Amino acid sequence: MSDFIPVAEPYILEEDAKAVYECVRSGWISMGKRVKEFEDAFAEYVDVRHAIAMNNGTSTLHAAVRAMGVGEGDEVIVPTLTYISSANSVLFLNAKPVLCECDPDTFNAEPAHMEPLITEKAKVLMPVDMNGLPLNYDRWTEFATKYNLPILADSAEAAGTKYVDKLVGSQVKAHSFSFFPNKNLTTGEGGMVTTNDDAIAENLRIFRNQGQDYRYHHIELGHNYRMTDIHAALGNVQLARLEWAMKRKREIAAFYYEHLKDVPGVRLPYVPDYATRPSWYMFAISLDDKIDRDRFAGRLKEMNIETRCSFPPIHIQPYYVKRFGYKPEDYPVSYKAWKQLLNIPVGLGLTEDQLGRVVDAIRASL
Ligand SMILES: *Cc1c(COP(=O)(O)O)cnc(C)c1O
Repeated sequence: MSDFIPVAEPYILEEDAKAVYECVRSGWISMGKRVKEFEDAFAEYVDVRHAIAMNNGTSTLHAAVRAMGVGEGDEVIVPTLTYISSANSVLFLNAKPVLCECDPDTFNAEPAHMEPLITEKAKVLMPVDMNGLPLNYDRWTEFATKYNLPILADSAEAAGTKYVDKLVGSQVKAHSFSFFPNKNLTTGEGGMVTTNDDAIAENLRIFRNQGQDYRYHHIELGHNYRMTDIHAALGNVQLARLEWAMKRKREIAAFYYEHLKDVPGVRLPYVPDYATRPSWYMFAISLDDKIDRDRFAGRLKEMNIETRCSFPPIHIQPYYVKRFGYKPEDYPVSYKAWKQLLNIPVGLGLTEDQLGRVVDAIRASL
């Protein structure tokens, strides 16, 4: 239907298509100069020494957790309110993801949520920049130093996010990004790890390339986690447009803040001072207890407006319940947050007219 408003969709222009076409026609379609160009440009953009591209943002998490020394029997502390791959990346290494709560306002984990869970088995801390809202990085760095534990930030949703005066990507030991189609910068499928640590970068480059240090010389058990040049061709164009995208996202968010600020029962995202530029990967409104989220979403759907629930917390995922025996009430803050959060449309292609329709529909549906 032509007046359908999706919650998010990839923003692809003619220049994107042209870059992909040129790459395919060039005959060099994997691990060539476009991947290198994308890595160099991304590293420069976020101001970090190394950027290592991979085939998706789950591979990057797996490879990064491993590169940070996590192995069998170790523990990595991960918020329960996140996407499944944050925790899965730990399980892939036969290590244990120890789940923690989040802050009820930012929905990000804070050091205080992880502190009581640290044991001598803890090897890495993995907080997440949820919905592209930056973590409180100064606090996290201080915490990492206090416990001498490295941080891997799952910054999958935070390409373009600014923390204070700096882009997210160099604040902690390593950051993992995703370029899935609904992210602000997409390559179709893709991911990137950023780090200032030379040894971690070297480890990642070997691991993603079948464990080879040079051709047909395999010194590790590696994977094929390489990014193709076709994906990188798209990434280069998308990265060049990311500052524009951030500007547009900010306008969309500002529209919602202005037009939804006095709607009873709807809480708008809280943005702390240090979050100088959230990426607005998603714009998640939080509904009052008394509002039935699914019925509300159903009404919007009837008006051709798509919404989406946040990720159900890890501790209610059937696989995790089966394996670890979690109950919903084990993490009440995250469970409640998930029940009340609803992502409303934030696609870069939204027009002012469509934004107006979303606002009107929300008012009419309450
Ligand atoms: C998108 C996302 C991922 C995974 O990325 P893929 O590229 O889809 O594998 C990981 N963590 C979070 C928080 C995400 O939003």
